[in-house]
Amino acid sequence: MRNKDKPKYRLISLEDYRPLIGDETFERIRKKAVALAGLRVLNFNSTYYGGGVAEVLTSMTLLMNSLDIRSEWRVIQGTPDYFSITKKMHNALQGDSINLSPFKQQIFEKVVFENAVRNRIDHDFVIIHDPQPLPLIEHYPKTCPWIWRCHLDLSKPHPQLWAYLRKWIDRYDSIILSCPEYAQDVLPPQLIFMPAIDPFNIKNRTLSKRVIANRLNRHKIPTDLPIVAQISRFDPWKDPEGVIQAFQLAQKKAPEARLILLGNFATDDPEGARIFESLCRSRNEKTFIMAHGDDTSLVNALQRSARIVLQKSLREGFGLTVTEAMWKSTPVIGGNVGGIPFQIENGVNGYLTSSIEETADRMTQLLKDENLCRQMGKHGRENVRKKFLLTRYLEQYLDLFLSSSYSGIPL
Ligand code: UDP
Repeated sequence: MRNKDKPKYRLISLEDYRPLIGDETFERIRKKAVALAGLRVLNFNSTYYGGGVAEVLTSMTLLMNSLDIRSEWRVIQGTPDYFSITKKMHNALQGDSINLSPFKQQIFEKVVFENAVRNRIDHDFVIIHDPQPLPLIEHYPKTCPWIWRCHLDLSKPHPQLWAYLRKWIDRYDSIILSCPEYAQDVLPPQLIFMPAIDPFNIKNRTLSKRVIANRLNRHKIPTDLPIVAQISRFDPWKDPEGVIQAFQLAQKKAPEARLILLGNFATDDPEGARIFESLCRSRNEKTFIMAHGDDTSLVNALQRSARIVLQKSLREGFGLTVTEAMWKSTPVIGGNVGGIPFQIENGVNGYLTSSIEETADRMTQLLKDENLCRQMGKHGRENVRKKFLLTRYLEQYLDLFLSSSYSGIPL
């Protein structure tokens, strides 16, 4: 019988991280959190699920609550045409062109207004994630600091779109970006917080060999050949076509392997289904294109069992999939863009590549050399332990909250 005094569910706490981060870091973070107990923080983004933003918010809001910081999370309710426009904005902020007609602007702004009508905000900090809910700021009296947390690769935002969004961006008290390269000429101060992973959630926790084998088996993924995997939303910036071409090229010289492209669809990303369908044309006995990416244990099992994980992105705000694979001691070949070079040290814990040919060459090299894979995997895990665990990211937020009054005075 269950002990009545023992809670049925338990939150991951800072204490759980102590063996990974050490006593000194643990104590430093704990003291900062104590000073902020009772703080009310509101996060607003555009999807509960799918993609790196929801992934981090899930764990970060819980970890903050375990420390008595009341971190809430709300999601914008939008219509399909709103999400179609915001996905175009997402793409244009990463450099694509966009036709931002007055009609589209009206749909975008009206949905945000309607969300403002439905949502009371009475918090000490408001954190708005990405462009979708950005204009919310114009609909509230400003009684606390508002932060825009942009997760995208902002190195070349489309000028017309940027000019349009600036009227809201400049009203924020500060902006958080994932990499220094994304800094822009805007009024608010810009801070750099790189994302991080929760090593205890289903995606990242240790799995036994039996569980890994069961998961792969369940999805009929054969393990007779080494696996090369890319796990990403079906999105052109993740370059799934380039992954298939690089794999085919590598297979002319490298030991036989199997490519698994695993993906899922985020509710705020209407492009995914079309891209998935077009990729399915490349399916064969060596190339699996799978849309079961919502099975979090499968993602974990695949990242652990793959000989190589690819993240051949053409633009990448940060690339949590890189961090996740490294944590599992799997070497990553990543596109040399956005947040990926901040994680992969070329030739040490993975490879950075800039073309299909280069990716194929590195794939060949790693498929030929299991020992090298092991070495790189080891360095990758240590790199994540030192730099990309959620506690580092949490501490950056705590420092930000502490550095400003939360009694309503802007930062
Ligand atoms: N993800 C997943 N299943 C999939 C594809 C992606 O669970 O089929 C997760 C992945 O494990 C990671 C996040 O979605 O946690 C993607 O974050 P990343 O920063 O790599 O890219 P984004 O999708 O935010 O551009």
